[in-house]
Amino acid sequence: MPSTPTSAPDVLISEVGPRDGLQSVKATMPTAHKCQWITALHAAGLREIEVASFVPAQLLPQMADAAEVVRHALTLPGLTVMALVPNLRGAQAALAAGVHKLTIPVSASAAHSLANVRKTREAMVEEVRNIVALRDAQAPHTQVEAGISTAFGCTLQGLVPEEDVLWLAAQCARAGVGEVGLSDTTGYANPSQVRRLFRRLRAEIGNKTGAAHMHNTRGLGLANCLAAFDEGVRTFDASQGGLGGCPYAPGASGNVVTEDLVFMLEAMGVSTGVDIAKLIAAREALKAGLPGEPLYGMTPDAGLPKGFSQGARHA
Ligand code: ZN
Repeated sequence: MPSTPTSAPDVLISEVGPRDGLQSVKATMPTAHKCQWITALHAAGLREIEVASFVPAQLLPQMADAAEVVRHALTLPGLTVMALVPNLRGAQAALAAGVHKLTIPVSASAAHSLANVRKTREAMVEEVRNIVALRDAQAPHTQVEAGISTAFGCTLQGLVPEEDVLWLAAQCARAGVGEVGLSDTTGYANPSQVRRLFRRLRAEIGNKTGAAHMHNTRGLGLANCLAAFDEGVRTFDASQGGLGGCPYAPGASGNVVTEDLVFMLEAMGVSTGVDIAKLIAAREALKAGLPGEPLYGMTPDAGLPKGFSQGARHA
């Protein structure tokens, strides 16, 4: 049994597969399949899904149907519908589509910032300020978060100084976003670093400390999530089947696998609100929409341990 509906889950799993995952695979999932997959994820208990990114279709044809996918996601009860927006124009389109939450990627690495959004970090902070002003004017109930990408290292630049990350996070918080998370875009992070940087982030911006967005490039995704959890992080981005990457971070591979993350947390007695069996079943919708695409995940491959029960901790 998943956690009782009366008690809020201990953590929020934010599913980013329909955005982070689908924008990094070559094939384009047909719109109807995207909608079926998102419905299946919602049915498994996920209550925040990053369903699309609002970017020019010539840059990312996989996301050309963003508004249509948002329209479908908005019909799912209790779901926070989130979209990634790299700039003001994207934010205008996302707000017009009616999303509940915008997430803005802000690169801590100067080199990645220029490659990913063709802006310096300072110009990107200015863009964040403009997006917040637009939100205030047009849709004051829409949440805005910033994700500091390449926070733990960059494939282009290498080392990213922690001072740069903290400075940028403080700038974004001051610009008016509700939360600032840290993203290991390149899969460089290790648990000690995650612990230290989230602790310093909390000291810098307090309760605006947001999600941990970890990639599993070197197999440390879960260890890094656990390190963030130990530092009080309660929102975790993850991707079904470990889909994901970044077109401008060469060699970056998938996100932490939602199925494995939910299993780890539930096995520890941390409620996620997600039903693992239904979550694993949702992979069928993903497979149907992306035939032949490799999916990852140890828990779906191995199955749940004998006698494992999500409700056992309540006994
Ligand atoms: Zn990512």
